Amino acid sequence: MTMRIIVSEKFPPKGFKAITLWPFIFAHETPVGADLRHELIHGKQQMEILYLAVALTFGLSFVIGWWALFVLPLYYIIYGLMWLVELFRCLFDKSRGTRADGRHRPTWKRAYIMIPYEREAYYGEKENDYLKKRKPWNWIHFIK
Ligand SMILES: [Zn+2]
Repeated sequence: MTMRIIVSEKFPPKGFKAITLWPFIFAHETPVGADLRHELIHGKQQMEILYLAVALTFGLSFVIGWWALFVLPLYYIIYGLMWLVELFRCLFDKSRGTRADGRHRPTWKRAYIMIPYEREAYYGEKENDYLKKRKPWNWIHFIK
C-alpha cells in the first residue's frame, strides 16, 4: 500500500521532523531523499508488525475478548519498550549511542538512536535502493 504524506504545522510536535503512523507520514514539510526513505522504512516495519498484531488480536480475542484490541498497536508498544530498555542501557553505558564526531547527545536521544527500528531506518536512509532490496523483518538484524 502506498504511504500518504500529510503536511501539517501542528503534528508532529515541534522538535520532530516527521512521524510515520502507517499508512500516513505526518511532517512539517514534504520529506524528500533520505528523510523520505527513513519514514518509508518505518512504514514497512509497521506494516509487517501490523500483520502479526492483527493475527495476535484475532487469536487472543477468543481468550480475553475485546481486551485483545490493546495488542493492535504492537509496533508502538515494542517501540516504547525498546526505548525504555535502551534508556537503562545508555544510563549505565555512557558511550552507547554517542555521535561519531563526539558531540554531546542527551541520554533520551542516545536511547532513541539505539532503538533497532531507528537503527535500521538511519542505516537504510543512506542507500537509494534500500527499500527495493530490503528483506521483511530486517530491523531484527539491528538489535545490538
Ligand atoms: Zn525514525
